[in-house]
Formats: sequence, structure tokens, C-alpha cells
Amino acid sequence: MSEIRLLPDHLIDKIAAGEVVENPASVVKELIENALDAEASHLGLSIENGGTRLISLVDDGQGIPANQVRLAFARHATSKITDENDLANISSYGFRGEALPAIASVSIVEMVTGARGAKQGTRIIIEGGKETLFVDAPPRKGTSIAVRQLFYNTPARRKFLRAESSETRKITAVFSKYAICGHKLNMTLSVDGKEIVNYPADSDLSNRLERIWGDKISAKLIEIDSKPSGVLHIYGYICRPEITRGNRNQIYLMVNGRPINDVSLMHAIKAGYGNTLESGTFPIAAIMIELLPESVDVNVHPAKTEVRFVDERYIYLQIKKLVEAAIQIPVLFTVVPETVTSTQISGFVKTRPLSPSSRPASYLSQHEISIKNHRQGIPSEKAISESAEIDSAEIPNEAALEMKLGGHRFWQLFDTFIMGFRDGKVWMLDQHTAHERILFEAALNNLCERPGTSQRLLFDLTMELEPSDMAIIEKYLDLFRKLGFEIEVFGNRAVIIRGVPAYFQSSSIEQIFHNLLDGFVDSLSTGEDPTMALSASLACHAAVKAGERLSQEQMEGLFNQLFNCEDPYRCPHGRPTVATISRDDLDKLFKRK
Ligand code: ADP
Ligand code: MG
Repeated sequence: MSEIRLLPDHLIDKIAAGEVVENPASVVKELIENALDAEASHLGLSIENGGTRLISLVDDGQGIPANQVRLAFARHATSKITDENDLANISSYGFRGEALPAIASVSIVEMVTGARGAKQGTRIIIEGGKETLFVDAPPRKGTSIAVRQLFYNTPARRKFLRAESSETRKITAVFSKYAICGHKLNMTLSVDGKEIVNYPADSDLSNRLERIWGDKISAKLIEIDSKPSGVLHIYGYICRPEITRGNRNQIYLMVNGRPINDVSLMHAIKAGYGNTLESGTFPIAAIMIELLPESVDVNVHPAKTEVRFVDERYIYLQIKKLVEAAIQIPVLFTVVPETVTSTQISGFVKTRPLSPSSRPASYLSQHEISIKNHRQGIPSEKAISESAEIDSAEIPNEAALEMKLGGHRFWQLFDTFIMGFRDGKVWMLDQHTAHERILFEAALNNLCERPGTSQRLLFDLTMELEPSDMAIIEKYLDLFRKLGFEIEVFGNRAVIIRGVPAYFQSSSIEQIFHNLLDGFVDSLSTGEDPTMALSASLACHAAVKAGERLSQEQMEGLFNQLFNCEDPYRCPHGRPTVATISRDDLDKLFKRK
């Protein structure tokens, strides 16, 4: 063995470069991060020959004062942190002070920069870690940096580079990531002299995603937004499971604005999709996680693409739950995988199995989650009011479809399901669960906000009850009245019902009331909140049952009211209320695509 000695600086830089500068895309990443940290509002990236010949980034950020330019290229020199406290509260992309010296040690770097308000700018050239030029330059706003001949002095590294097209692809992937977290910035990308991307400034997140993913995907986006705790905010967009990718590349995860690779959280998203995804496929999603800087450690990886959460498990569960709730409109047909032969297919209609772990949607929507539908999901209330125009304008075939169904807008199948059209898709409702959802929300509304109206019965109804039921009625008399029951306690064994909620249709009031009361008592005994328990029980027992024949008007009423619900996808017990079949589903089913 030879003697132990300290390595010379230029060798240390090259070794460090091995960690930070893996390929042209990692240079692009570092340069973009520096521009973002400098609070630029415009970023112009140009690359040539997959970034091996040139990577140039022009920004209009703060620039570097002349007397600090050399320092910027010194190892462990940074303007972003000063002490250990800062390390625990990092809000900038950079902080390690490694990127510029590392890049400059394996390429020829030219930087022209000017600090705001300074009379002079600076031009510096560093070749393989050695400064070869340092001169004044005209004043300017921001920084322009050109990295040429990457790895010219490290042939081993150069050998590991892939084909130019593949390096270009990695660069555009990095560019897209930062275009998402920097959606408010004007960002341009030129490849081999041709501008291929020009993202406008001030885009909101959904606009930027539309630009990145294109129309076909943006029509399938579902917005998610949840603050499961005061210090955690998760939001973004996920794509319906009909459109997937063969790898994880279109899953964007940002933590406090920093794009990260977190296999576990990517898995959380995938897990939220459950078995709606065919095996080997991955969803399309952009999810932003905002939390206190001290609850995440970004200093675990030199390239800062991995982070460590104080409570990873909690975040995992929140993401999974959000995704699960967002995609819960079942699609009727699951597409038969290529490998299954037609003889193996038994009955072609399969409903998508529901994830057993998902809680009733009512609770999700009431307490934690707001899911807004984007474009063609189930229309929001606002969209409903505009839907007449949208329907006819966007989907000209809908009228034709209805005509073919004998002029009816709705069909009842097996006296149990209702088929109708909206947004160019076929919708199937389960008449009982759909009605349950409608009544449940109406009842909740009556109990919490506006008491319901009642209809007087032709004859007062006197019902004898068990003493235990009497006690419950007396205790919750007020709730029953808010629902629309005109009810009085009569002695200690009976109640008189003079009126019922206006939407009651059945004549067997006595039977319904008994069942409703039983359901309510059962739920109370499991500790459920009385308001929820009573609403759910009323919904369950007053809703139309499977097997009841409905008129066109009744079906239309159910259809429209369901889509006006806050959470139309599940009944209060968690069973699905609707399923869809799109043209796309049918095309796939019959292998037209
Ligand atoms: P870090 O970003 O971790 O601080 P870098 O080596 O990437 O380390 O950059 C060193 C310093 O150079 C930064 O802290 C910053 O002050 C300055 N700098 C680099 N790029 C820019 C830029 N585009 N605009 C303004 N300042 C920059
Ligand atoms: Mg940096």
C-alpha cells in the first residue's frame, strides 16, 4: 500500500462531480434550481446534441455581484444557508454549494451575470475546473450560463452516456418536472436550435399540466385537494385509470415545491388506484405535498431527489385515501388483458371490485376531502346548470344515441338499474343506492342546516312502540321533527305521526318508520353520531327498492338529483351508486383500439 495523502482540490471536485453530475440532465436540474432560487421569472433552456455539446440556461433572476462570482464556483460555497438551524428549515432548492464547482470541473463553463442595479456585469470562463477568463461585462439582469463539452476531461463518464436522443429525453423530463413546480414562470426549451416548448407565465397548475400532458389526458383529470391536518396539504391532479403509462415517469411528486423520487409515495398513489390498473401499468398524476420544512429532511442525497419524512406512513395513507376517493366512479367494463383468450372470458360485464378498505364516501367528503371534478368527471353543481349547452355542444352523438333508444332518455333494466346518457357516456345507476345517496344528503341537510318540509297525512297514525324505542324517540324528538316528521309522544307507549317528510312516497309509512327506527337504534349502539345514523337509516328505508318499476319522470329525477349530490358515487354504506361505460371502454373491450 502506498502512503495516505490528502487529495488535491481538482480531484475532489471531480469525485464530487461523480455524485452531482451524472449526466446532462443532472446539469440541467442544477442550473434550473439555481435560476429558481434566484427568483427568476423567465427561464430559457437550450441544449445541443443531447446536452453533451451545450447546455445553456438564461434567467432574469437576482444575478451574482462581481466580487462573489468566483466564490460561486468554490466548493461548499453557497448563499442559501449560514448555520445548522437553516439546514433544518430549507426552503431553497440548493444549499450544498456543490453544483457549480462540480459542473465546472468536468466541462467548459461560461457564465455572464449581473446583480440587480450593479453598474457592471461579469463574464467568467472555467475550463475543467481552471479559470481561464474573468472580465467585466455589460450590466444585465440575471444570469446566463453555458456548459460546453460535458465530460470532455472524464472519458470514462462520457462512455456511460446514452444515445443523444435518450439524453435529450431525460433532459425534457427534468424540464417538465420543474415546469410543474414552476408553473407560474415563463419557461422555454430549445433543442438543437429549435424552440420546442414555450410555457407561458402565470399558468395555474392545471393549465400547465394540460400543456405537458395534452388534451386527451387533461379531459380525464380529477383534481384532489386535502388538508388532513393543519400542517399537511396535499393537492394536485390525477388521471382516471383508463389512461396509464408503462412506467412511473408521469407520476410527479413535489414536496414543498421540490420534485422528488419517492418510491414509497409513488406506491401510495398506485395503491389508491387499487385494481383499476392493469398489472404493469402506472398512473398519471401530479401531487404536491406541502408540510413544515422541519418535518422533512432533504439532505439525504447529494442530488436532493430523495427526502425523508418524519411521518412517512401518515402521508402514505393520506395519499392513498385521496386517490381512492377520487377515482371511485366504477367503470362497468374492465378491459380483458391481452393474455386472456376469449374462451376464458365468462360473461363480459364485470364491475370493478371496490377496495374493501375504503370508508364510506360520505365520511370522506364530509370531513376531510374535497374532490373537484375536472372537465369530464361527474359534473359539479355549477357544471350541471350549464350542462344543457355543454351536452349538445360537445357531444353531438348524444341525441342520436337517445333516438336509437326509442326516444326515451332513460331505461330501467331488471327493474333495478337505470341507464342514461350524459357527457357522451352511458351511465348506470343502481336505483336503490342512488336514491339512498340523495335522501341521505337531503336528510343531513335537514338536520344540520334547513329543516325539511313535511306533508300532512290524511289520517293521523298512532304507533305503539317498545319502551326502549320510546326512550330513543323522546331523546331525539327534535331530530325527527327537523327531518319533516310531525310527531308527538302519546302517553308512554305510543307516538302519533301526523306528517312525514315531503319526499316520502310510500303508503306503508308504519313499516318504514319501524325499520328506520330499528336502523337508527342499531347504529347508535355502535357509537355512531346520531345525525349521521338517523340520516343513513332514513335514506336506507325510504329509498326505492330494487324491483320497483319506475316512470320516466322518476328515473329522470333520480338521475338529475344524484348528479347534484355533493358526493354522488356511493351510498352512505359505501356501495357504488353509478358506473360508466364510455365509447373508449367499448372500443377497448371489442379490441377496436
Ligand atoms: P447551491 O445552489 O447549493 O448554493 P451552487 O453551486 O449551485 O450551490 O451555486 C453556488 C451559489 O452561486 C449559489 O448559492 C448562488 O448564490 C449562486 N448562483 C448560482 N447560480 C445562480 C443564478 N443563476 N443566479 C443567481 N445566483 C446564482
Ligand atoms: Mg445550486
